[in-house]
Order: sequence, then structure tokens, then C-alpha cells
Amino acid sequence: MTGAGILKGMAVTARNFVGSYFEKERLTTVQYPEERAPLPENYRNFPFLVFDGDEAQAGLRCVACQICEKECPPQCIYIVKSKDKKPDYMGKPQFYPATFDIDISVCMSCQICVEVCPFDAIKMDKVYELSRRERFDALLMDKHELAKSNSYYHGIHPTEATEVDTRLAEAAAKKKPAPPATAAPPAVAAAAKAATSAPAAEAVVSGTLPAKPTPPAT
Ligand code: SF4
Ligand code: SF4
Repeated sequence: MTGAGILKGMAVTARNFVGSYFEKERLTTVQYPEERAPLPENYRNFPFLVFDGDEAQAGLRCVACQICEKECPPQCIYIVKSKDKKPDYMGKPQFYPATFDIDISVCMSCQICVEVCPFDAIKMDKVYELSRRERFDALLMDKHELAKSNSYYHGIHPTEATEVDTRLAEAAAKKKPAPPATAAPPAVAAAAKAATSAPAAEAVVSGTLPAKPTPPAT
């Protein structure tokens, strides 16, 4: 019947309108900005740079490899790689971004920069109240504004951040050098030394050490 869809839609609206006086979950309107609807865990907006430890710039995971800059579809990332290396939060000398800017007025929240980063250094934020009065420079976020701690990352994406931590810990464990082979117990070492020394022959004759089996005649 023509118009049946309109009538169905109006019935849903009427049911929710009347129902909202009795059931809170039917009340979908939120009184923003006094109230904010909770965001789902996988909500994403603009990227930020993750740092470990307490010092934002020293702890940045980013090593300025510039892969994200090359892959960003609207080319809104601008990176200048450092000339020198500085110790990262683990004490390992690394290059770092001397400049790392993202123009959030151009960013389209595609998350490609996150997908291509080999160091889990850039992740998607949930902050959406980023409007500025100025149209240009104010929307260009530098590395100081972009740096946010790993604890913050855990706060907004707990499942994903835990997976990343596990992956990084496994990778770090694989890179660790293997421990040196364990030394033989002193008694065994002494016996081995005795077997190769001159008095060993006497010991074999006197029966204190087992004689080596004689090889079969060819
Ligand atoms: S989310 Fe997409 S558009 Fe925004 S900085 Fe990353 S790659 Fe570029
Ligand atoms: S955020 Fe990742 S991909 Fe981008 S420059 Fe830093 S380490 Fe490389």
C-alpha cells in the first residue's frame, strides 16, 4: 500500500515519544553539552602519538620513519626526521620526529596512518570537541599537542591497547639475546677433565674410571 512505510515510521516515533515518559532507554536525546552520550570503544576521530614512560617527547614511540606521511591519502601529515639519535624510553638510541604535524582540518579519520605504522606509535583518539575560531594554523596540531600517554590510550581503547602491549612485549622478548649455555656441574666437569688427562689412563687401569669401549675391528 502506498504510504505504508510512512505510517510505520510514524508509529515507531509515536511509540518512542510516549514510551520515553516511562522508559529511560527510549529517551535518546542528550542535553549536550551538559550531558554527553558515551562513545563506543571503537569510536575514532583524529590520530595522536603514543608515548611510554613519564616524559612525553622523550617517550614517543615514533622514530620518524615517515611511512604514515607517505601513505596518508589527503597528505595532511608533515614530518621532519631528526639529524641525531636520542635514547628512547628503553634507553636505545633512535631517530625521533623533529617536527610532526597533522592538519586536522584536512584529516578524514581514515586510520590508514595507524594501520601502516610498524611501531604502534600513532593511534586514533576519541576527542571530537576540537573546533577553533581560526580556520588555518589553529587546526595544525604539532607533536606537543599530539603526544598522549600509553595510559591514556588504555583509557580510551582498553582492548586494543592491551593487545598492542602484548605484541610489543613479545617482540621485545624475541629480540633479547639468548642466555649463555649453562655450565656443567663441577663434578661432571672434573670427571671430563680427568678423562682427558694423563693420570686418567692409570685411573682406567685401576678401575676407578670406566674404560671407553674398544671400537669394533674393521
Ligand atoms: S587518519 Fe587518514 S587522513 Fe587522518 S592523518 Fe591518518 S592517514 Fe591521514
Ligand atoms: S607514526 Fe609510525 S609510521 Fe609515522 S613516522 Fe612515526 S613511526 Fe613512522
